Amino acid sequence: MNHSTQPIIQSVKNLGRLDRRHFMAFAGALSAIPVLSRSSFATRSPVFQSNPFTLGVASGDPDAKSVVLWTRLAPEPKVPGGGMSPETVEVKWEVAEDDSMKKIVASGKSIATIALGLSVHVVVSGLEPIRWFWYRFQAGDAVSPVGRTRTLPTADSTPEKLNFAFASCQNYEQGLFTAYEQMAQDELDLVFHLGDYIYEYEAGRNGKIRTHLGAEINSLDDYRIRHAQYRADPLLHGMHAKCPWFVTWDDHEFDNNCAGDISEEVGVATATFLARRAAAYQAYYEMMPLRAACLPKGPNMLLFRSASFGKLAQFQILDTRQYRSDQPNFDKKSPLNDSARSTTQSMLGNQQRDWLFDKLKQTDAQWNVLAQQVMMGMFMSNGDPTNPAYSMDQWPGYAAERVKLMQTVKDLKVSNPIVLTGDIHSNWANELRIDDTRSESPLVATEFVGTSISSGGNGAQNPANLDKIYSANPGVRFHNAERGYVRCQVTPKSWQSDYVVVDQVTKPGGKSSVRAAFVVESGNPKIQKA
Ligand code: FE
Ligand code: CA
Repeated sequence: MNHSTQPIIQSVKNLGRLDRRHFMAFAGALSAIPVLSRSSFATRSPVFQSNPFTLGVASGDPDAKSVVLWTRLAPEPKVPGGGMSPETVEVKWEVAEDDSMKKIVASGKSIATIALGLSVHVVVSGLEPIRWFWYRFQAGDAVSPVGRTRTLPTADSTPEKLNFAFASCQNYEQGLFTAYEQMAQDELDLVFHLGDYIYEYEAGRNGKIRTHLGAEINSLDDYRIRHAQYRADPLLHGMHAKCPWFVTWDDHEFDNNCAGDISEEVGVATATFLARRAAAYQAYYEMMPLRAACLPKGPNMLLFRSASFGKLAQFQILDTRQYRSDQPNFDKKSPLNDSARSTTQSMLGNQQRDWLFDKLKQTDAQWNVLAQQVMMGMFMSNGDPTNPAYSMDQWPGYAAERVKLMQTVKDLKVSNPIVLTGDIHSNWANELRIDDTRSESPLVATEFVGTSISSGGNGAQNPANLDKIYSANPGVRFHNAERGYVRCQVTPKSWQSDYVVVDQVTKPGGKSSVRAAFVVESGNPKIQKA
């Protein structure tokens, strides 16, 4: 037993200032309580009629000595309350050095609270760096599947290699999560999910491969059930059990094309929209292996954060939805006019931008990664230079801030900047200039955009107008619209991105292959064929 009890002592000290309901939420979020007397809790040790671990287990946000372990009790994940009676439940957890759970290195008890949807978030600390661990939960007589997780290298170490994948956009109605079958074979240290983890739409809107339950989601129960419907997928929770994930959201975890507190629909009152956002963010927190720092406060939730893989790579995980100003031109495509280039347009918001620029100032990592949502390459989508059209929901709608970000990266001589992106259901490899519309503007970074897991159905190897896209956008070095994810191998000398694709997601048994692989050598942001 070498896990720290520090957070617990903290929570006990704070108890006097919190009412009981909030303490329950707080304790549940911080979890893990060997020293805490539970005499005041109405916990029980239930006997389950059916498996309460239908949503599997997950881990996330590791550092060199700790990691978040997650589960949520839901014998019937698709009904309100998950088929549980509304009582808190004590959940035991164990961490071992071996997959047979014999050499236990940490264990404890946590409380699954009603306030947080009977989810469990345990921060296990005092772990050895850069090691695999196995974990499981027990509630009453039910034992969870065993998950595997990993700590990161220490900040001052110089790791020789990092293997990870990033994914996004998994519309349940449009396809199966077959891509995760291959990902589970990849022996990855980490996974990044860059958003559109769920889609908010009503049943039948997007397809019939599988159907969402109910109307477009709005209430906390709606969001909880939608998340549960997705996570009950064995390929999805199976991949969560394989290694730790860092997750961030895009728009569909809440509402399509949301921008700050502004709906894409005209006439939605701010208070109504924020009440819905509070429900969406709480359900997201409950379902994800996130630290207590992310615990939502009403309609706000701090999701941007940093992670270091020793001195090899530093990741800034961004939230380009919660703080952004409204899209110009009512979200529709537009030339890069004064509205798009206005200096009052912000994708990041002041606080996140200041934080990011500070991080970029301080970093001494070899590779500096922005793990974010929408495409940064200023891609002219119609290929018509006389009347060019750019997506106002992506970075071109915030062009001044994007230019400022790239200029800052260049001025600070940030080592090997790499941008990772999701959102648009297609693969891209882009060379980023300070301003991509000006060919004399210096090349500063490389962007890898990963396609969707399932959104858009089977997709196409060669999308329409491919020649036009390449000729109108010299920074675009690769584009493809099949389903899949991107697998990255990072060493001090080079970065390789493999575009893993699956040949179909509309039927089980899709086959995976690597459609293309690109390399960036340290010191040179140019994209080269692997
Ligand atoms: Fe999407
Ligand atoms: Ca999106």
